Amino acid sequence: MVVGAGPNGLAAAVTLARAGLRVRVLERHPGVGGGLSSAPLTLPGFVHDVGSAIHPLGYASPAFRDWPLHAFGLEWVWPDAPSGHVMPDGTGVVVERDLAGAAAGFGRDAGTWRALFGPLVTGWEGLLDDVLRPLPRLPRHPFTLARFGLRGVPPSTLTARLFQTPEARAAWAGLAAHVNLPLSTPGTGAAALLLGTLAHAVGWPFPRGGARSLADALASYLRFLGGEIETGVEVRSVRDIPPARAVLVDSSPGVLLGLLGDRATPTYRAWVRRYRYGPGILKLDYALSGPVPWRDPALARAGTVHLGGTLEDIAQAEASVARGEAPERPYILAAQHTLFDPTRAPAGCHTFWAYAHTPPGTPDSYAETVEAQIERAAPGFRDLILARTLTNARQLEAFSPVYRGGDVNGGRGDLWGLLARPVPTPTPYRTPAPGVYLCSSSTPPGGGIHGMPGYWAARAALSDVFGR
Ligand SMILES: Cc1cc2nc3c(=O)[nH]c(=O)nc-3n(C[C@H](O)[C@H](O)[C@H](O)COP(=O)(O)OP(=O)(O)OC[C@H]3O[C@@H](n4cnc5c(N)ncnc54)[C@H](O)[C@@H]3O)c2cc1C
Repeated sequence: MVVGAGPNGLAAAVTLARAGLRVRVLERHPGVGGGLSSAPLTLPGFVHDVGSAIHPLGYASPAFRDWPLHAFGLEWVWPDAPSGHVMPDGTGVVVERDLAGAAAGFGRDAGTWRALFGPLVTGWEGLLDDVLRPLPRLPRHPFTLARFGLRGVPPSTLTARLFQTPEARAAWAGLAAHVNLPLSTPGTGAAALLLGTLAHAVGWPFPRGGARSLADALASYLRFLGGEIETGVEVRSVRDIPPARAVLVDSSPGVLLGLLGDRATPTYRAWVRRYRYGPGILKLDYALSGPVPWRDPALARAGTVHLGGTLEDIAQAEASVARGEAPERPYILAAQHTLFDPTRAPAGCHTFWAYAHTPPGTPDSYAETVEAQIERAAPGFRDLILARTLTNARQLEAFSPVYRGGDVNGGRGDLWGLLARPVPTPTPYRTPAPGVYLCSSSTPPGGGIHGMPGYWAARAALSDVFGR
């Protein structure tokens, strides 16, 4: 039995079904996918991604890449370039997929960019096998992992000193800031290294027709394997769960505690209470009458755009969020799918997906600050808006308890947050109740669409309960 049909619940269910078990999934929403879903959030005919938008991890995931998801309707779309970064004067820094081409774009930093990413790009599959799993484990590719650790474990601001040009430093910061922590936090370099490596190794693709195509493919594959999915069912207590030899919970550690009741030991309870979340977000989905009018037209080649200025600007914005102050010039993550996938909007129209990191209590009026940042990089943007939908941290948590306080990663992504996720044990999927497992992004390796928490939780259940 799996509670929750987010990417991790679905990955857990598929892993169990592939082992020949009968699996049933209960999901409280009318559809599957959780943070991996799409909906007409603004106007009819416009398909917006409710949560995740860009899926390098989904494409490269050690679990998903072995599954025949293309046979169940999944089709990937590659933007011309993985990402673009807006400098303070509106100039775009486009990170090309081709490593040599990308490096050449960084001028004096070409050699440093190549030296940093080259060996990781060569060994990307092994790297993913080693980092998308619970820590600590004996690495299978120790040299690649050591290289990754050398530059990924220190704060990203430290590794940024390898670069001389403001462009390379800003592009690096734009990657590191995905983790939603001050850039001076140890471990933030790992996000930049992983995302940069994937940009060059596989690109940053997304599913044609909306993120939900990936969730739908996972659900169809599960049904093909004999699994069942029941939607519109909220599991509030153990009594709502039909008898099963194993129960995997794709939800927050807090919800899990409620389900465990008095089967949760005081120590487990204490760890879960101590589990920490990062800041939230304010998300804006736009229906536009035309493409985003970037000051620098080169940015139209990128599927993802980071707005936030220089390394120093982004470091300041992220530190400000951590202090509890919403920055005047926020770091914004944006995606422009329809430039590369016209199926998501009526002819000639476009969608725009964007979010900024926010401290608790940020009012919805902060949307104006976020929009002003976009307008500075793309004058005339506001004139194209047909409709806009705002999602704040509270609404995100109501959508899925995994995003407590609006934290899209289901818990802090610093080193401690990865080691004690939510408990500091070698197999943190296990709970004090035999046969009950946590399988959401609040377990290793954490947030992002890769299904690996679900995969590893299912592997633990297969070993403990079914002797496989
Ligand atoms: C706005 C946003 C943008 C993001 N952008 C990206 C991105 O571009 N790329 C990327 O890789 N990742 C991105 N992420 C992160 C990614 O979406 C999450 O890490 C991932 O979806 C977590 O998967 P999950 O299965 O652990 O949780 P969820 O996706 O939240 O799924 C949990 C599911 O379980 C259900 N559920 C929970 N409790 C119960 C219960 N008691 N009974 C029944 N059902 C229950 C929920 O309804 C939900 O459907 C983003 C997330 C958000 C929110």
